[in-house]
Amino acid sequence: MNFRSQVRGFLIQAACLVRADALAFHLQKLHRRPQGLVVAMHETPTSLKEQFRAQLAWASQHFTITNLEGFATLWGEHPGTANRAKPLLLFTFDDGRESNYSVAAPLLESFGGRGVFFVVPTFAECPDAQQALSFYRARMNPDSKPGDEKTEDWKPMSPAQVADLAARGHAIGNHTLTHARLIGLSPETLEHEIGDSARKLAAWTRKPVDAFAWTFGWDAIDANAWQAIRRYHRFCFSPCAGAVDSLYDQPSLLWRREIEVRYSAPEMRFSYSGLVDLWWGARRRRLRDMLRVPHE
Ligand SMILES: [Zn+2]
Repeated sequence: MNFRSQVRGFLIQAACLVRADALAFHLQKLHRRPQGLVVAMHETPTSLKEQFRAQLAWASQHFTITNLEGFATLWGEHPGTANRAKPLLLFTFDDGRESNYSVAAPLLESFGGRGVFFVVPTFAECPDAQQALSFYRARMNPDSKPGDEKTEDWKPMSPAQVADLAARGHAIGNHTLTHARLIGLSPETLEHEIGDSARKLAAWTRKPVDAFAWTFGWDAIDANAWQAIRRYHRFCFSPCAGAVDSLYDQPSLLWRREIEVRYSAPEMRFSYSGLVDLWWGARRRRLRDMLRVPHE
């Protein structure tokens, strides 16, 4: 355990002790405005299936678990959501792992929800395990060491599984063609990574691809890339934490809070409380400035 995760663990314990997480959660619910939360997850291994079920059971008491269409009603003509008792909650999964197909999708369905699965077409098309693992090491997790990875970290879902999820009402989102870092790329490369990827996913699913999530860190993006994303996608999801407030936020730049299935119960509740969003406020502002997001 490194120093940062020790500090994080200490803060979570301290916040739980003084019930600061419960208080923040309560204040969050007092907002009368239509609002929602987007959760970002990665691998959802079978060994953590019951832990994920417990997280969903807990979350469904405090939020309305929805799908992308339901979430979009935050900006609807009649956002009759102002008096909704519970905020909307949307689950998203990055990279297109097979464990998302086999574990996460059926679990979400059992709670009446549907997810957004951000797929990397070149990863999904890897013809065998060796190539998938090489792709994972080279393009998705360059810091991983051989022997570190469990199969469920790097095994992709196939194009047929992607199509099946879409047919079951889940949304398939674009996560670039090759898990590219979207900084300083030429217009041609952006078109290839974003446009070609969107066309491929639309061909697999026979549906429009409305959602995009960029790769790597919150600031691994530039204004040109964001404009290219907006040409193809209505919803752009960032890896930057925050609640989504439909008065201030637009579908073209949405915040996501990372809450993994492996989190312990106190860590999970702390993450849902929204305390962590305070830490990310300056980054949200910098991102808006960097992308020159018009103020609505
Ligand atoms: Zn990714």
